[in-house]
Amino acid sequence: MISSDALQFLQSFLACPSPSGYEQPAQAVWRDRTAPFVDRIETDVHGNSMAWIHPDTRPRVLFTGHCDELGFQIRYIDDNGFLYFATIGGHDIGLVPGRTVTIHTANGPLPGVIGKRAIHLMSPDDRKKVPEIHELWIDIGVADKAEAQSLVSIGDPATYDHSFKPLRGSLASSRAFDDRAGAFIVSEVLRRVSSQKSALRCGVVGVSTVQEEIGLRGATTSAFSTSPDIGIALDVTHATDHPDVDKRKVGEVRLGGGPVICRGANINPRVFTLLVETAKAESIPFQLEAEPRGTGTDANAIQLARGGIAAGLIGLPLRYMHTPNEVIDLEDLDQTASLLVAFLKRIGPDTNLIP
Ligand SMILES: [Zn+2]
Repeated sequence: MISSDALQFLQSFLACPSPSGYEQPAQAVWRDRTAPFVDRIETDVHGNSMAWIHPDTRPRVLFTGHCDELGFQIRYIDDNGFLYFATIGGHDIGLVPGRTVTIHTANGPLPGVIGKRAIHLMSPDDRKKVPEIHELWIDIGVADKAEAQSLVSIGDPATYDHSFKPLRGSLASSRAFDDRAGAFIVSEVLRRVSSQKSALRCGVVGVSTVQEEIGLRGATTSAFSTSPDIGIALDVTHATDHPDVDKRKVGEVRLGGGPVICRGANINPRVFTLLVETAKAESIPFQLEAEPRGTGTDANAIQLARGGIAAGLIGLPLRYMHTPNEVIDLEDLDQTASLLVAFLKRIGPDTNLIP
């Protein structure tokens, strides 16, 4: 089980707004939590947070989890004070109308609702359509443009209000488990190895990356600057244990089945094998995922950094990706952290990464 103080960290980390490009509040929480466990912690000009154990030791193992999430950005204020917005990241537009949101302004959080023409006022044809983003607006309850402008600035980000809610057993829902869960595990691995530092024969750098959702941008720069020998990305992957999913197309992954170890061209075969052998030796449940090409994760940027990094990818099973209520099993997070700690103990100067 995840300890109660780790769970508390996860909840306060999730409570921070962190849309791509606006990750600073979440990164501050991540660094506060992680700093006591590491030899050095720093932030680069993109906002990536990097935490080091044995910074001068080779081989060096990089773990990444991206802390950015989907969001919205205020683009235009009309004469009546209604706010029109752009999307940050890959939204399912059908889920956007009718939501409560928080706009993150220079003067603090501002509540709003995403408005849409009522069903009674739509033609039968319009009722079948998904609205386009410019047909939706945020209503903050003001009288006119001037009042809106006194509160909100063009470019202010907004996020859904949905937050952490425990479900039955060890399941929980929240917005932004993609990929706050991954960045949480990076910190948790550093915490767990901090008491066993002298037993490690490798260096470790954990990075809470930025701007993954808009093109793996934080991983691209931090995989270069940290110059690792091995780089493992922690990101969510689709659980397929719910209705209306075709396993013949996407494979079989379930919540509570343990970390999903990815295999394919994006993944160094030696890293993959060592992850599987470690899970078996430590009796940690795991699942497998096949990805025949570059993945849409930080692992892709890591593999292609510098002269090529030995990349790995661990998927955290998640239902309803990119919706306001993503669902995970907290036990999977615990098992993933255990797997990576055991993996680190098996890495040393004799580790062969050549396929
Ligand atoms: Zn995502």
